[in-house]
Amino acid sequence: MNQGKLIILSAPSGAGKTTVMRRIVETFPQLEFSVSATSRPPRGTEQNGVEYYFVTERQFLDDVAAGKFIEWEEVYGGTHYGTLRSEVERIWVSGRVIIFDVDVKGGVKLKSIFGRSALSIFIMPPSVATLRERLTGRGTDSPEAIERRVAKAEQEMRYAPQFDLTVVNDDLDVAVACIEEAIRRFLEI
Ligand code: ADP
Ligand code: 5GP
Repeated sequence: MNQGKLIILSAPSGAGKTTVMRRIVETFPQLEFSVSATSRPPRGTEQNGVEYYFVTERQFLDDVAAGKFIEWEEVYGGTHYGTLRSEVERIWVSGRVIIFDVDVKGGVKLKSIFGRSALSIFIMPPSVATLRERLTGRGTDSPEAIERRVAKAEQEMRYAPQFDLTVVNDDLDVAVACIEEAIRRFLEI
């Protein structure tokens, strides 16, 4: 019985969370992504209600005051992200398992709220040097932004022991297989 179960994926930026998430959602049709709210503008082909609910800073802070978030963080200077209570309720009513893509602090917070109902997974880069190479290779950030993300990643890696499982994303197929195995055990499938 998987009613009320949740899966949390967290990682320092550039560790491969988005890449891993795409593969996992394809493998497990019973998972549904919790769409967060953010005050950052859409990037590229992002659509409201698909990757995020895009709101103004003012709206975000009003929603915080109204208690609409289970957790929220200022992830990068001035940009807010938050997990909506309404998303969790919507997905649970549909009988599906929720999967969250949140930053490391958000992952720790969600695990502390949901306890044994949640499987929390930390995706670890093989090294800081590899992380920098991947961020450079992705080509979405300026050199300064890359250095900020790398510095933050070094802090975030200290949170790994607070997760149920840490998976090093060196070989992508190996990392995905390891995460899929953990999800199968958690969902008893
Ligand atoms: P995140 O969502 O954690 O910021 P991405 O999924 O965007 O990270 O991955 C960062 C970059 O690293 C992307 O260009 C992606 O294609 C690449 N990447 C992800 N996993 C691997 C891997 N195991 N080996 C090599 N490159 C990878
Ligand atoms: P991006 O702007 O690249 O989409 O996301 C930046 C970071 O914010 C990522 O680490 C992502 O996981 C995180 N994030 C997205 N939604 C949430 C959320 O609802 N809560 C928290 N704490 N972090 C989030």
